[in-house]
Amino acid sequence: MTKSLAEALLKILFLWCVLAFETSSFFLQISRMTNASSFELFPSKISRHGNDQIEIEWSDAHKRMYGIRQLRDACPCATCRELRMSPRPTNLLTILKAEEIAPLLIVGMNPVGRYAYSIEFSDGHSSGIYTLDYLRELGRETPV
Ligand SMILES: [Zn+2]
Repeated sequence: MTKSLAEALLKILFLWCVLAFETSSFFLQISRMTNASSFELFPSKISRHGNDQIEIEWSDAHKRMYGIRQLRDACPCATCRELRMSPRPTNLLTILKAEEIAPLLIVGMNPVGRYAYSIEFSDGHSSGIYTLDYLRELGRETPV
């Protein structure tokens, strides 16, 4: 009688441990999921403002305005980064191409996975992958 009672108590203790472990790992997973989603910022709306600006409304309701020229000049691709690191001498006359004289526009803006946007400019350049963190740093905050 006492032996079966002890066995029953052991079984209850064992089940309680399993349940406690399962519950804690379940809540750990939930908290990880909520933390991840609260820190992940993503554009909820992208709109054109005139011919030379776009506005991005972020998932945390912040709005930022971006000059198209500013975005183009901040292109994160290797070629553009290299050009920025070694600026051309100022005493040389540069010959501009037709697409460099025409007003710069954004032709396309497409998501790359869940972490970045690729921006295609009217000058034919489209190799820059703008991560969401980088996009969030650029531009200027606009009042909501
Ligand atoms: Zn580039």
